[in-house]
Amino acid sequence: MKLFSHPEFDNHEEVVFCHDAASGLNAIIAIHNTNLGPALGGCRMWPYASEDEALTDVLRLSKGMTYKSSLAGLSLGGGKCVIIGNARKDKSEALFRALGRFIESLGGRYITAEDVGIKVRDVETIGLETDHVAGIPAKGSGDPSPATAFGVFTGIKAAVRYKLGNHDLRGVRVAIQGLGAVGYHLANYLAGEGAELLVADINEDAIARALSEFGAKSVAPEAIIAQNVDVFAPCALGAVINDETLPHLKARIIAGSANNQLADDHHGEALKQAGVLYVPDYLINAGGVINISHEFNGYDRGRAYAQIARIGETCEEIFRFAETHVMTTAKAADQLAERRFLKPEGKPTKAA
Ligand code: NAD
Repeated sequence: MKLFSHPEFDNHEEVVFCHDAASGLNAIIAIHNTNLGPALGGCRMWPYASEDEALTDVLRLSKGMTYKSSLAGLSLGGGKCVIIGNARKDKSEALFRALGRFIESLGGRYITAEDVGIKVRDVETIGLETDHVAGIPAKGSGDPSPATAFGVFTGIKAAVRYKLGNHDLRGVRVAIQGLGAVGYHLANYLAGEGAELLVADINEDAIARALSEFGAKSVAPEAIIAQNVDVFAPCALGAVINDETLPHLKARIIAGSANNQLADDHHGEALKQAGVLYVPDYLINAGGVINISHEFNGYDRGRAYAQIARIGETCEEIFRFAETHVMTTAKAADQLAERRFLKPEGKPTKAA
């Protein structure tokens, strides 16, 4: 296993391998960058096929959090944690408490929250050993998914305004892939503004709810990306824009909550060439982390949602920057994020 020469290492500040024999905990905490503040990022529990796979995932995800928080204007850095294990079989109070003690030992440099395989109640168990947890009811903001959906909604509106010249969503056709925690709330916002919805999910109950509540039409999961719509909103899986799917895409805008939507950088270039406006995933799905960041100054939903609404303005800034500098929107987002987190204003080295 490589670390410093790992392809995803990218100047991580700290990587901690956590093992607790009594509870069977094997976890990795990666802290990518703390120039803007403590590294915040969720904890994922997944039955990785190998330790290498777990390391690759945690490094990629923690770097992503640095970029996301930076572009969202937050005083937070990027970090992430992965637990190697099966979320259905391997959870125990002892395991989460052991992880909590490791997080506590980092003295606040890393703050955890929920992610794939981890429930809010698991974060609460981690919180029995450390105060460096976020996104739990006791801290005020609770489930981040509705906030993420609101951010995606404001991003879609900005993209529709920029690309199609429409100032509202009446009659705009949106295909949503995945009606889970984010997709459901997104459908609600979009339907509320008069968008026409086409939806797909592998869960029949999720479809039935969208059909009855939002008057959506459903299509087969494998057909959703090829629909003749204005906006394609991936809210399920990563890497949905790839060599296989790209030739079938008819939407003029791609804007959804899923992380890592482009299978590879060259797909961003291919979308640009095809005249498709891609809204960078970590920009449009930052609503959840923005919402959580408001816990640190006493959570106020109105203030949090006002900041989430500004995702739309940042989207416009990115679209213009990309157009002016003739680059993909993904590259533009990276450059603007790097401008902020790579040039901190006088990061203190010692507490005053
Ligand atoms: P979720 O697990 O609640 O929902 C995912 C939905 O996608 C489920 O309903 C699932 O049945 C469906 N699905 C799975 N495979 C599918 C397929 N092949 N075709 C169609 N539907 C399929 O997850 P979520 O919290 O709603 O998150 C959705 C995406 O957004 C994920 O990629 C997640 O990483 C990302 N994201 C979520 C948040 C958040 O606040 N929850 C924040 C940032 C990013």
